[in-house]
Amino acid sequence: MGESGEERRHRIGDVVDDYCPHCKLLMNHGIIAVAGDEILKVRCNTCMNEHPYRHGRGPKKKDPVKAAYDELMSRPGMPRPPAPPRKGGSSDEEE
Ligand SMILES: [Zn+2]
Repeated sequence: MGESGEERRHRIGDVVDDYCPHCKLLMNHGIIAVAGDEILKVRCNTCMNEHPYRHGRGPKKKDPVKAAYDELMSRPGMPRPPAPPRKGGSSDEEE
């Protein structure tokens, strides 16, 4: 088969949208490493942070407990609720 249709390949230097873990936003990124059609690494055009390509996905969904807590906290006029319970002690962080 002799299809000559150009596929949309990603090349180094192309600009793609991706989630920047530094800006914490979907930003324009320049591709800096590819493998075949796969984008491996990108660099944020805003903060110049290099990171693996994330396929435009942000961080994992919020912890539902924390999300509810944040929502409560963002409501005006609500009394300050107690801090959400911590998850079983994998963290040593203390305030
Ligand atoms: Zn950035």
